Amino acid sequence: MKTFALCGNPNCGKTTLFNALTGATAHVGNWPGVTVDKREGVYKKSGENIAIIDLPGIYSLSPYTPEEVISRNYILDENPYGVINIVDATNLERNLYLTTQLLEMDVPVIVALNMMDEVEKAGDKVDAKTLEERLGVPVVAVSALKGTGIKDLMARAAALPAKRSGNSVLEEDFGDKLRKVREHYEAEEVASPLFHAVKLLERDELELKRKNAAAVLEQAAGEEDLEAAIADARYKYISANLSVAKTKNGKETLTKSDKIDKVLTHRVWAIPIFLVIMFAIFHVTFSEDFLYIGAWASLGKGLPALDDLNLSEGMATFVGIFYDGAVFSPGVILFNIFDTLFGTIMDAVGGAIPTEWLSGLVADGVLGGLFAVLGFLPQILMLFMWFSLLEDSGYMARIAFVLDRIFRRFGLSGRAFLPMIMGFGCSVPAMINTRTLADEKERTATVRVIPFFSCGAKLPILTAIAGGVVQYFGVGHADLITYAMYLLGIVAAIVSVLLMRNTTLKGETPPFIMELPTYHWPRFKNLMLHLWDKTKHFVKKAFTIIFASTVLIWLFSHLNWSWHYLPDEQMNESILASVGKLVQPIFTPLGFGSQIGAYGWVFAVAAIIGLVAKENVISTFGTLGACLIALGANVGGVTSDVLLADEEGITATVAMITATGISIPGLIAFIAFNMTTIPCFAACATAKGELKKGTFKWTLLFWLASSYVIGAAVYTIGSWWWTAFIWAAVVAAVTLLVVFRNLGKLKFRKRKSARGEANA
Ligand code: GDP
Ligand code: MG
Repeated sequence: MKTFALCGNPNCGKTTLFNALTGATAHVGNWPGVTVDKREGVYKKSGENIAIIDLPGIYSLSPYTPEEVISRNYILDENPYGVINIVDATNLERNLYLTTQLLEMDVPVIVALNMMDEVEKAGDKVDAKTLEERLGVPVVAVSALKGTGIKDLMARAAALPAKRSGNSVLEEDFGDKLRKVREHYEAEEVASPLFHAVKLLERDELELKRKNAAAVLEQAAGEEDLEAAIADARYKYISANLSVAKTKNGKETLTKSDKIDKVLTHRVWAIPIFLVIMFAIFHVTFSEDFLYIGAWASLGKGLPALDDLNLSEGMATFVGIFYDGAVFSPGVILFNIFDTLFGTIMDAVGGAIPTEWLSGLVADGVLGGLFAVLGFLPQILMLFMWFSLLEDSGYMARIAFVLDRIFRRFGLSGRAFLPMIMGFGCSVPAMINTRTLADEKERTATVRVIPFFSCGAKLPILTAIAGGVVQYFGVGHADLITYAMYLLGIVAAIVSVLLMRNTTLKGETPPFIMELPTYHWPRFKNLMLHLWDKTKHFVKKAFTIIFASTVLIWLFSHLNWSWHYLPDEQMNESILASVGKLVQPIFTPLGFGSQIGAYGWVFAVAAIIGLVAKENVISTFGTLGACLIALGANVGGVTSDVLLADEEGITATVAMITATGISIPGLIAFIAFNMTTIPCFAACATAKGELKKGTFKWTLLFWLASSYVIGAAVYTIGSWWWTAFIWAAVVAAVTLLVVFRNLGKLKFRKRKSARGEANA
């Protein structure tokens, strides 16, 4: 099978083309650097199958970033049949810079002139034929997004002759020098001698490691550093010979993207706009009182409660999905639909099994746990959809740019925000994406705070508890609580990075050079692929890890140390309870330790089982909550019909609140702790793999310490507002300490260098 590598600038559409060719569902993001690893697939729509490799995006073949090294080594060492060089036709000159380098290798090249739909829309023209004549390799106009030209591209790729010797646009300016080095390499039978010759002249660090390299270079070019001159020559060649392929429509006006950016990346308004957009997203997804904001608030006033409507039972259930004295947001409506369904199934199954313990295991243990988590799938998907839309439209890249402007001087670059934002989906790919960060220490700091960007699996914790608080205490709005917790995570991440970058992980902040991608309408198919992926992942996890955990949780909460079955009433004497009670006091400063009542150990157990998978936190509530609900009136004097209200995960939380008497600050601290503590097992394994040797244990310690401090702060401030002053004083003291320490060191260094000069 012939293998072709896709190679091109970041954001030129490689992954889109890869997906179009192979039918894969790889992540397409409208920002540079989404693909870090290479990925493989097969194109099956031609006579012979063709293997396709999606390489990371690069601007050149110099070894300045890990992506450049991966791509370069792949082409040089793995001998693909050919390279499909994707060129973004809307940015022709910049993209051809890489093309001129690829042509220097001894590998067949075909150029895919991508984004031709955009070019046409702008009224410009790019002439593939002219380009083909000038480059000397096939050039095919395509649109990866629309799927046009792809068949033609692959037919011509398959028909490429198997051998091609490199040629360079630098011959005119550097012919002599190049020839000298090349002859040397040819004599040594090095593959792609011309490419290596150019790189040596550039004093490329990988190239200089070769045997005799320094001597050969000395002989060909003396001491001269040609890197800048070579880059310059390439650009000159491109603008003199290749740019003619593009004709502009003449009108030089602000593009639509520029106009939008005037507002969205405004110096003052950018951040407030971001916060408002985020709030809107949380409101639409989580609000149980959709109309309460702004001018609409009056509309929501004085509406009758559901009970006062005197509806028939069936009708009340139906209306209750959309309305209960206030109109629910679309996200909550979706949640209710699922929830009604799950509740019906649970009741039916529980009732159909006569044996007590079996009915308990199946209905409370397995279904209670699973449904508590699965019930939140619609809201997870909805939130994920909003994030996808923001990302695909190009907005998230702007946020990185705006944040870079603010935080650069404190040691945090916009580049690092991109993987952090990916963390909202899942920490695992986000941590892998940090490979795009050139500075090792910035990378370590980023990997550590990625879990603070609350992932999909942590969402049920937020939603169930926020819902529980609103339902039980009747205070606050679920969406506001959720939104605030997300912001808390972001702020904690930023503060932690700033702290690390100014203490243990000090280092240069590399410049953040990023082409802002043009805005475009998110693509429906793309979105559906993302959502489908997420659903698959979630459901698979539900029926493996979460399923197994809920069964174990149920069993250990219904067995005592002599392995006898205990009915629900005696859960407090179970194995799980005694283990839970042992660790419970650790959490006292966080508000969910010894101060809470009989079933308080459940919180400790949930937090610990969450280390396996974060969904387990709420599935544990679901399982044990279902048992408490089954006890009904026995729980803290609250009747079972209050507990059996309507919403599984939330109901279970309400049951937990009732049974333990935990306070609101304790509950919020519980969310904060779970959001910032050691992430799930998969994320830990990834972090261990991505971090430099020896830093992982410190990372674990960092997670433990930060979640403990954050949880304690939330609890104490929530319980006794004046402790805010103590916390503020501590924060100020730490900040001052760091600042003075750094200033002191700076002075010390200055003095030393002054002395050095005096000596000289
Ligand atoms: P990569 O970084 O090179 O892998 O680029 P992606 O495949 O992630 O695409 C970057 C952005 O360009 C995405 O928002 C795509 O939807 C968009 N895109 C890709 N190909 C085309 C195309 O042919 N036309 C248009 N208009 N947009 C495209
Ligand atoms: Mg990509």
